[in-house]
Amino acid sequence: MNDQSKRAAELAHLRGRKLSKGEPVPLPLTMASMYHLPGDPEGFRQYGRFNNATWEAVEEMLGHLELAEALAFPSGMAAISAAFFSLLNTGDRILLPSDGYYTPRMLSERFLKPFGITADLRPTGAFLEGGFAGYRLVFIETPSNPGLELCDIEEVAKAAHAAGAVVVADNTTMTPYGQRPLDLGADIVVSSDTKATNGHSDALFGHVASRDPWLLSAMRDWRKLSGAIPGPFEAWMVHRGLETLEVRFDRMCRSAEIIAPRLQAHRSVGTVRFPGLLDDTSNNLARVQMQRFGFLIGLTLESEELAERFIDDCRLIQPATSFGGVHTSAERRARWGDAVAPGFVRLSIGCEPTEELWDALETTLNHLNA
Ligand SMILES: *Cc1c(COP(=O)(O)O)cnc(C)c1O
Repeated sequence: MNDQSKRAAELAHLRGRKLSKGEPVPLPLTMASMYHLPGDPEGFRQYGRFNNATWEAVEEMLGHLELAEALAFPSGMAAISAAFFSLLNTGDRILLPSDGYYTPRMLSERFLKPFGITADLRPTGAFLEGGFAGYRLVFIETPSNPGLELCDIEEVAKAAHAAGAVVVADNTTMTPYGQRPLDLGADIVVSSDTKATNGHSDALFGHVASRDPWLLSAMRDWRKLSGAIPGPFEAWMVHRGLETLEVRFDRMCRSAEIIAPRLQAHRSVGTVRFPGLLDDTSNNLARVQMQRFGFLIGLTLESEELAERFIDDCRLIQPATSFGGVHTSAERRARWGDAVAPGFVRLSIGCEPTEELWDALETTLNHLNA
């Protein structure tokens, strides 16, 4: 049995092992701004912005999966902001992927630049080219959202560390079950748990994880002082989501592995990007650095119109932005201005039975050119 399945099995019993007789087996939701706190406050939960038992429970689960300490945040962007704002100073340079999730670039342009922190952009597929001299922080996202390009985490971490940079890896598209950036040398993992981790499209959440106590303490202080804290109810939902993540992720990745080559073979589909395809440019790297190939597939149809019809007509596709839900969803990323073809569709494979899903996708594709 591999380490991943061992971690998944233990995850189901993390809480149970610590229960006293008569306590509820599922996690109670602690909604509290005040705690009973007479006298010396040291060593006790003090105030809702500092501590919450429901956060601690979800952080324990995330930390168990990351093999690191984890801190919960109200969204993926709050987690990314914590890494940026707690570590960067005026005069620092940072490196961001030009083809990753667009909000970190906007955040940096709108709010880091005025503080004298400058960002350079580099495509994920060429991330090692040009070196890392002069960077305080190097941010990677692999596979990138939406283009599904990869970069070599271990090589980037080695070279960036030699240049004195902190390496932050956005692992949203893979979850700790699909890829382990900290094991490959990244200093901080950030994740939008809004996506597959929660998995039910009903909460926003995020986390950071690190094995470096100094980095953790800076990000913990940022959370406490900036007030970027998660709501206990969202933490409770994500705790529940994490209990089924392994099963959902396994189904989603397995279906994607079966569906991607079939899409590639369909006459209505142009190019298909999926790290698990044998002829994908990143397949060799994917085999080495990823535990799974993920559940996102990028497919390009002939035109914007055909792409929109594919998304709207398929009875098992939910047209929506975001991804990682139990339901298959898709969107045309060019509608947000991502640098992709007008007919490029980001398809997020859900938990539907695989052959039912394929049947719906194929039927829709067969009728597209009719
Ligand atoms: C969605 C997403 C984010 C932002 O997460 P929120 O929870 O929406 O704040 C960050 N990185 C990636 C790769 C994402 O897909």
